[in-house]
Amino acid sequence: MARDPFEKEFHQAVTEVIESVKPVLDRNPEYRHAGIMERLIEPERVVQFRVPWMDDQGQVRVNRGFRVQMNSAIGPYKGGMRFHPSVNLSIMKFLAFEQVFKNALTTLPIGGGKGGSDFDPKGKSDNEVMRFCQSFMCELFRYLGPYTDVPAGDIGVGGREIGYLFGMYKKLKNEFSGVLTGKSLNWGGSLIRPEATGYGSVFFADEMLSTRKQSLKDKVCLVSGSGNVAQYTIEKLNHLGAKVLTLSDSSGYVYDEKGIDDAKLQYIMYLKNVKRGRIKEYAEKYPKAVYTAFDAGTDHNPLWNHKADCVFPSATQNEINAKDAQNLVNNGVYMVSEGANMPTMPDGIDIFLDNNILYAPGKAANAGGVAVSGLEMSQNSMRIRWSRQEVESRLKSIMQSIHASCLLASEEYGTPGNYVNGANIAGFIKVADSMMDQGIV
Ligand code: NDP
Repeated sequence: MARDPFEKEFHQAVTEVIESVKPVLDRNPEYRHAGIMERLIEPERVVQFRVPWMDDQGQVRVNRGFRVQMNSAIGPYKGGMRFHPSVNLSIMKFLAFEQVFKNALTTLPIGGGKGGSDFDPKGKSDNEVMRFCQSFMCELFRYLGPYTDVPAGDIGVGGREIGYLFGMYKKLKNEFSGVLTGKSLNWGGSLIRPEATGYGSVFFADEMLSTRKQSLKDKVCLVSGSGNVAQYTIEKLNHLGAKVLTLSDSSGYVYDEKGIDDAKLQYIMYLKNVKRGRIKEYAEKYPKAVYTAFDAGTDHNPLWNHKADCVFPSATQNEINAKDAQNLVNNGVYMVSEGANMPTMPDGIDIFLDNNILYAPGKAANAGGVAVSGLEMSQNSMRIRWSRQEVESRLKSIMQSIHASCLLASEEYGTPGNYVNGANIAGFIKVADSMMDQGIV
């Protein structure tokens, strides 16, 4: 920790894992002797680079690019790229670290990495985004490859950006390979990849509820975000008969008492994916919905202060603090399935666990996205395409298997039903054993 004193998000992610796996290290001292934890928290490689590009006015702009290749013990580095002004090395390292455990849980042979830039795609023209992506790839291509590192999307990186990145990679390497996932269906993408993270988080929620003999039917749900993960979380919740009341973006949130049905969801997909507008326009189109702008001066997020049964945080890290967690508990919430990465702060997690909430951390609940990315890699290698039903049923069975392995590990190490410990322990053991097999490298 002393080595990187300003990397607070990275420290937060590492601290949680260290606390969870302490009983594993106590029971298996060989992991300590082999320095597994010391090696796990040091990335195998970090690449940081200048990304110069020209805006539509002819002005040269410069952003910073990153790729953190965290751990390749069980397969090539795999993890998304984030384009957002908040991106820095700490956020890249926390995301890459989480990715190592998440990918291990999927049962697929993929290591962990993450990358991105402090570039903000909001308000940029398609041509500006294309020039940025091309410049970004002009440096990054040296470190990628289908057997080395296979990035995907994340915040600010969707189908458009993956297309521009892939186009430049192909030109530079003179090869057409499965080097990125989240590709368009016409050129190597997998069915269900856009849906996978949101659907997976709902499948995981259903598994957790089934341990209390319940289902999602008729459950009242709060969802944050309005991007890829939030949209497909709502789609699957609607299919399963639940009712979603909220959505947000970084400017504010909407509360729709009537529920966000499929027709309203279609509008959100148009608003966010085509028009690239703001969520407050939802309340202009559906005047019975109430829009509340975010107020940086308050100590809580009002989105989390409504009566509900289940919650799907699907925007960004640290969006639920202790006060928000307490508000959720007071409002009757008993299940939280994290679509976003690390959306709940540590003292918020403690409140969920103390109140016996069914709480799934992102590294388990949102693993569906990378799982289907892994399935996209398999289809690319085999030069075939599976049907929608085939991919969705594989996704569902992977989420069931992650749920089962989290529960099993939580029981084996004395905290039954604690999905935080379960996910950290199950992921850790798989990666640690693989590192032991491969020697000190
Ligand atoms: P998108 O860019 O599609 O959507 C992100 C959403 O979150 C937008 O509504 C955005 O609002 C909002 N948001 C972003 N930053 C903030 C912030 N600082 N405060 C409030 N709202 C914010 O990204 P995704 O849906 O792909 O990703 C959402 C989360 O899910 C992230 O944590 C990501 O790491 C995680 N995740 C995504 C996976 C995937 O397959 N896409 C896989 C696994 C995890 P605005 O438009 O105003 O920025």
